[in-house]
Amino acid sequence: MAKKSEHLDTRIVHAGDVHPRILGAVSMPVFQSSIYEYSGETSYHDLKYIRLNNTPNHQALHRKLASLEGAEDALVTGSGMAAISTALLSVLSAGDHLLAQDCLYGGTHEFIARDLKSFDVSCDFINADEPASWKKKIKRNTRAIYVETMTNPLLQVGDLEAVARFAKERGLVSLIDNTSASPVNFRPAQRGFDLSLHSATKYLNGHSDIVAGAVVGSRSLIEKVTHRLNHLGGSLDPHACFLLDRGMKTLAVRMERQNRTALELARFLERQPKVARVNYPGLENHPRHHRARELFDGFGGLLSFEMKGGLKAAERVLGRVTLPAVAPSFGGVESLITRPATTSHSGMPAKERRRMGISDGLIRVSVGLEAAEDLLADFERALAAA
Ligand SMILES: *Cc1c(COP(=O)(O)O)cnc(C)c1O
Repeated sequence: MAKKSEHLDTRIVHAGDVHPRILGAVSMPVFQSSIYEYSGETSYHDLKYIRLNNTPNHQALHRKLASLEGAEDALVTGSGMAAISTALLSVLSAGDHLLAQDCLYGGTHEFIARDLKSFDVSCDFINADEPASWKKKIKRNTRAIYVETMTNPLLQVGDLEAVARFAKERGLVSLIDNTSASPVNFRPAQRGFDLSLHSATKYLNGHSDIVAGAVVGSRSLIEKVTHRLNHLGGSLDPHACFLLDRGMKTLAVRMERQNRTALELARFLERQPKVARVNYPGLENHPRHHRARELFDGFGGLLSFEMKGGLKAAERVLGRVTLPAVAPSFGGVESLITRPATTSHSGMPAKERRRMGISDGLIRVSVGLEAAEDLLADFERALAAA
């Protein structure tokens, strides 16, 4: 078992390990058994059963995730949306009110605006960069505040410390979707957040081959979320737990490389005459570059940029790059490229998209593990033809 004092890189490999090793196995075996012999458990939630999220594969992951974010406990879930919906349904009840950032992941936004409404939970959306405006939206029944570490696709960084402080002062539960940063770049518990959520589908697993999620936080909150998940049923299968555990072992080296290549690509794109604007928190001209520097250990592998030639030019870039696959999602070893107006934000009315700053000529890139030189050369060729 890794010790608290050890570096994150060491804990990424060893935290959660079982000692002594199971029959000497160096890598954690898959416990593909749905049921286990009864051994005197007195609570339903302690019965050993895959849906109850307590097989050895689940427990190993929980220990590792908690250790990485410096939190007491963690829970893995069947998807990022299972983590988000279950966490929200654990801290909110009928009649409660939620404050949520105004530019969230599409699925989260819809869940908050539509699904929660049918459970009689109301919501007001806030600009996460304007703390002074939050007081006006808070109500007697406000119970929680929800933000993302970096927004997609514009990579905005809200006033995260003010969010955690605001929640503490008013007794609200603070939740943050930390998918875009991963625990390598940002650890919300250390900045006062109550619950950190992940789509483990992205950086944590890192290989674009499973869907999974995670909730990280205090022991008491994680117990509450676990009991809700036990009933809602969005549990992760042991084999997917094994794959997630295997993927996570390389998280530190992947993230470090992706941080570096994304910064190089962002700097390269910034110099291109056909590019109007590059959104990346690691660039000195990013409006919240100093905040990102202070909060994060790296700026991540996601960036977006806008073509001066608008929609037509953006489509030519997507049609001409050869290394990145034209596909949504992010965080894998392969680079991906998308036009948010036709993928992640296609469900939003065009007027609303433009108001948010997501133009038709905006391109989002998820930087993978290819050599930076090859990626830059690929973009150079594509831009020359755009
Ligand atoms: C992908 C994503 C989700 C949803 O995760 P799934 O694993 O697809 O359910 C939630 N939040 C963010 C920021 C994401 O990128």
